[in-house]
Amino acid sequence: MFKQFGAILLTVLSIAFFGCSRALAAGQEIIERAELIHEKVLTLDSHVDIPDTKYPTGGFDPGIDNPKLKCDLVKMDKGSVDGVFLAAYVRQRKRNADGYKSAYKSAMHKIGAIHRLAEKMYPDRCELATSPEDVERITQSGKRAIMIGIENGFAIGKDLSLIDKFYGLGVRYITLSHNGHNDICDSCNRREQLGDKEAEHNGLSKFGEKVVVEMNRLGIMVDVSHISVESFYDVIRVSKAPVIASHSGCRALADHSRNLNDGQLKALAKNGGVIQIVAYSGFLKFVLPQRRKAISDLKKELDDGRINNEQFRERMKEIDARYPPANLVDFVEHIDHAVKVAGIDHVGIGSDFDGGGGVPGFNDHSEALNVTIELIKRGYSAEDIVKIWGGNLLRVWREVEKVARNLQKGTKRG
Ligand SMILES: [Zn+2]
Repeated sequence: MFKQFGAILLTVLSIAFFGCSRALAAGQEIIERAELIHEKVLTLDSHVDIPDTKYPTGGFDPGIDNPKLKCDLVKMDKGSVDGVFLAAYVRQRKRNADGYKSAYKSAMHKIGAIHRLAEKMYPDRCELATSPEDVERITQSGKRAIMIGIENGFAIGKDLSLIDKFYGLGVRYITLSHNGHNDICDSCNRREQLGDKEAEHNGLSKFGEKVVVEMNRLGIMVDVSHISVESFYDVIRVSKAPVIASHSGCRALADHSRNLNDGQLKALAKNGGVIQIVAYSGFLKFVLPQRRKAISDLKKELDDGRINNEQFRERMKEIDARYPPANLVDFVEHIDHAVKVAGIDHVGIGSDFDGGGGVPGFNDHSEALNVTIELIKRGYSAEDIVKIWGGNLLRVWREVEKVARNLQKGTKRG
């Protein structure tokens, strides 16, 4: 009896052992395949923020493995990330003379910072790219391609001519709004403190239509992240070129106003555009009310001085363990969903690093390989991965340039 039991146990154990080692081998195989593919593909991230006004200086240095940054030249190198769009983010303020002035100044300051990074601080390690050809040339030379986007069309206020000026400075996409409505369109998140009503323009304003037309004419990509659903459909109607959502998720998986619903994903595909999936936990996974409350209580304790930063971090870990935030798998789940609804030609990656983005497993650029591993696990081919990691974004950019050339030819002839 015991002998028989022993034999059965042995069989069970050996199946478990060999099964497990086979699984390990398969795991290793996937990693090796992922490494090979990841090294070769052009990897672009369409949305990274500049976290501080001191960036980039010795005090806030993107040339070292900087613990304060999720995207720096060392982490990009480690994770084989070839290029990033750095965002000149502009906070939505009151729309008065002071507000317009400070928005313009803030955009100019950040654009200046990006130029300084590429031209003064690290010209041997990165270079400003203002066209898809630039991106290919720069990355083939072994440098990182740095591109510029403006996050919030409030930067131009009511002055159409500023779009041309920003184009001249290398800006290649503009996110039409941020949190709060502006003169261009309604945001998906109104700002009550600024007196925002539920809807102000019910989509794009007349001025906003002119902005889209001017961006089409110049060859600046229109970014629909942050704008309301009505604004989105107006943009799709008005734009003569494909558009991007530089950092958004899928609303079918996480019901947040910042995400695109399936109808929008299909419209984006029809437009020829691309959604760049964001790695921001709050947009990837429904946040339990208990987690929200625990964090807000904890923040209150910190604000009241009842706990210090160290204790805050420790207690935050406990909250994360109890109510886990989104992780790499959730992030790739959004890629997967967008691919199913919009198609493989219309999905990419826009991390939102240094602006709130980052999830366990893809918490900074040094971990970019993990995304490729997860894609391979789900059956994506090398060709698919090329598209997701930058191929689709470059295709849209090329198309936007082509439309601009045609429009400019048309005007000259006319
Ligand atoms: Zn944003």
